Amino acid sequence: MNYLLQRRTTLAQLQKTHGVDAFLVTTPVNVSYLTGFTGEDSYYASVPKHEIIVSDTRFEGQIAEECGDLEAVIRPHTKTTLEAAADVLTKAGARTVGVEGNRITLGELEALKALTPKVTFVPLEGVVEGQRAVKDASEVKRIEDAIRVAERAFRMFVATLREADTEKDMVDALEGYVRRAGGRCSSFPPIVAVGERGALPHAPPTAKQLGDGSKLLVDWGADLMYKSDLTRTLKSPFGTAPSRRNKMERVGYRFDDLYKVVLDAQNAALAAIRPGVKAREVDAAARKVFASAQVKGVDLKLADYFTHGLGHGLGLEVHEAPKVRANSEDVLEAGMVITVEPGLYLPGWGGIRIEDDVLVTHDGCRLLSTLPREPSTLAMI
Ligand code: ZN
Ligand code: ZN
Repeated sequence: MNYLLQRRTTLAQLQKTHGVDAFLVTTPVNVSYLTGFTGEDSYYASVPKHEIIVSDTRFEGQIAEECGDLEAVIRPHTKTTLEAAADVLTKAGARTVGVEGNRITLGELEALKALTPKVTFVPLEGVVEGQRAVKDASEVKRIEDAIRVAERAFRMFVATLREADTEKDMVDALEGYVRRAGGRCSSFPPIVAVGERGALPHAPPTAKQLGDGSKLLVDWGADLMYKSDLTRTLKSPFGTAPSRRNKMERVGYRFDDLYKVVLDAQNAALAAIRPGVKAREVDAAARKVFASAQVKGVDLKLADYFTHGLGHGLGLEVHEAPKVRANSEDVLEAGMVITVEPGLYLPGWGGIRIEDDVLVTHDGCRLLSTLPREPSTLAMI
């Protein structure tokens, strides 16, 4: 199966639906999706009867290797890629050209208009992103590869933790393990939050030491072009002495009780996932668990402390379509890959988030990530 050709054929059909006779793709990640090209600074032009990649001499050889079935227009160094793309559109006789309305800059669009006065440009939003939301088999495999690398890295990370490690040390170590396990790099700067700092959903790393708290929240992923995105929250074997714990965690809620609520919320969301379901209904299924949860010794409305959306699509970018949140209009389809990441963030105590990557299947969903989700100590991983 030539997936790349299939994607470009679908795009050509979408052009017709939108009433344009050409489409200029200028966003690197979308160019990669349609052509297989892994470099940058290049455009893809879908014009009648031609599929053209517009690039420069640095990438001539790479384009021959990665996308030999495309026509390549290699611009001279005296021209910009935008000027070369304008030439391609003019030569093709395109009259109406779709551009990526949510991505192209105003300056780029004005420059294109000036270069091709006879062309009408039509800003179209999320056309390629919409295609990307539903993964083909090759993409699911590549996301699974990125998950395996992240999971291997996490096991190495956990095995080598020391009580005196700071959050910054742990971020550095985890990024190193992601590369050692086979990743190009991390999908995003990892979040490693000790104790109370877990109450910040996107805590930047500090000099706080692992031993300063009784729990550790880690949100990380591996980038193998396709990305993974996982979170685990663990009880630390080092931070259980009250004298140290009290430095950071002023509230003594029981970890296991709260963890169970988050896990129940995740399981409720997973049970709600199937094609045809609105993404916001999956978000609501998790929120319902928090709304009805009673935890001994915790006099809070827990639903108020799940402060972000349930998840997001995952693929070439770490956040992509569909949105899985209360205000989402997206409807789930088989082949979508999404994160399911409920969390609780309690100031003065810390946070718990469990994030897994999930494939929507024809009759439900399949967890792609395999790290244990049950509450466990660091030593048990
Ligand atoms: Zn994450
Ligand atoms: Zn995420």
